[in-house]
This record gives sequence, structure tokens and C-alpha cells, in this order.
Amino acid sequence: MMSLKNNHLLDVLVCPECHAALQLTPTTLLCMGCGKRYDLAQNAVLFTTPPSDINPSELRERGEGRDTPWRHANSVFLRNQIEQLSSDALLLDVGAGRGDFLPFYEHLPHVLLDVYPYPEVDVVCDLTKLNPFHENSLDVVLLMNVLEHVVSPLDLLRSMHAMLKPHGRIIIAIPFYLKIHQAPLDFQRLTHFALRDLAQHAGYSLLHLEGFYDPCGVIEESLRYYRFWGRAGQGWLARKFGAIALALMQVNLKLLRTLSVHPFIGDPFKVTYPAPMGYHLVLEKN
Ligand SMILES: [Zn+2]
Repeated sequence: MMSLKNNHLLDVLVCPECHAALQLTPTTLLCMGCGKRYDLAQNAVLFTTPPSDINPSELRERGEGRDTPWRHANSVFLRNQIEQLSSDALLLDVGAGRGDFLPFYEHLPHVLLDVYPYPEVDVVCDLTKLNPFHENSLDVVLLMNVLEHVVSPLDLLRSMHAMLKPHGRIIIAIPFYLKIHQAPLDFQRLTHFALRDLAQHAGYSLLHLEGFYDPCGVIEESLRYYRFWGRAGQGWLARKFGAIALALMQVNLKLLRTLSVHPFIGDPFKVTYPAPMGYHLVLEKN
């Protein structure tokens, strides 16, 4: 008998077609209503087929840059938000990938979901197409650096509205100043005006919205782009001189990091010259 590694799963999942209960069989999850079967792979339930244009080698990049100031700010924000939850809050990590943020919530009941069957994932599903979660079953949903990879963020937020309990929360981190990544599944950079609008249209109150500003980080991101992708097609000599110039710029950047403006969190509606690395938001179901 195959067992689902996550025992909270059967409490919160229903058949996305007919909303009847699902039963575990040795090889599938079987719908008790319409009889539809959902395959299991590595103990994850497959509700939708993983996109064929995902490049698995590129997906390993997900953990890369974990220590960038942006990722650090994500961690501080998430830890803070998780601390406010009760110890029995049921959490769904959407776009969980390799479980980068698992250490922050592993003491809570949790489910990891992604469109791709990573080994850490419990449910494989594209929530903009299909929703296998019981209505009013979840306390918290995480969307950590995920919303930019969704074609229609509005559809995703609306899809989550039903599965959240009343006053359930969505915790979001979304980059603004970041190169296109995990191509071709990278669809937008949203401003705080767009994010506020989105929350309202999807039926949520905006409990919290902050921008993360890092003037040196903006320069770093551009240098990183030059270092990895800007030098293709250059001749040997140009490469050598380019490498020296880049090294000098990195020394200068280090100097700026020490002497100049440090990363800070600000209210995006009040910050002047706003060029955030990204935003952190908390939405509450109305
Ligand atoms: Zn069914």
C-alpha cells in the first residue's frame, strides 16, 4: 500500500471535477463520486500535467542566490508572518519547488504544491486550471516568488479565495527588479499599484504591503547580468579587459555597500524615487 507522505492531504483534497471525497488506492487517488482516478508519482498526487516547456536543469537555479539581500529580506518577512499564526494553522506552499521555505513552516501542518513534480512536492497542480482543495479548508497560502510565473495572477488569487477559510491569509513575495528567470515561465513584474488593484479585484483586503529597496542591489543585479550573459560573442582581448573592468566595478560596489545607502523596507506609496527589488504583501480573504 502506497502512503501519502503528508497525512493532512486527504483532509483537504477533493475531486476537482465533482468535489466528492477521494480515497487512496495502491496506485491512485480514486474519486468516490465520479470515479475519476488521479495518479501518484513519488507520493505526490498529479492533478495536472507538468508544463512541457519547463527546463528541469534551469529549475535547479531556484535555490541559487539564496543569500542575496532580496532572499534575506524574504526570510525576515516570512519568519515574522509565520510567528503570527496559531500552531494549528494549515499552510499551503504554492510553487514550493525544492522546499526552499520549508524550514520556516515545518512546525505547522503543511502541504507543498507545484506545477512540477519535485521530490519535495505533495500535490502537482496548476491552480489556475483546476482546484482540488476543499472549500474553507486552508488558513494560509504562501506565494513566495511565484506570482511573476503565473500567466494570470488574478485567476490564481480568485482560485485560492474559495479554499481559504474566512479571514485566511495569503503571504506573498514578488520580485520587481530581477532578470527574466525560469524562462519561458516568467510573465510579469507588477508595481504596488497593480498589486493593490489585484488584491481588491480578487476579493481580499490588503493587510500589509512593503517594498524592499536596495540601491546597491539594483547595480549588483545588472553586474550579475553582465558577468553571466553579457560577454557572449566577445573576442579574447575584449573578454580580458572586460573582466578587469568588471572586477574594478565589483570593488567599487563593495565600497558603496559599506559607505552608501543600505537596503531598507519602505511603504511603496510614500518612498520617493521608488525602484524596489521587490514587494512583500499579506492579503486577507474578505
Ligand atoms: Zn469526481
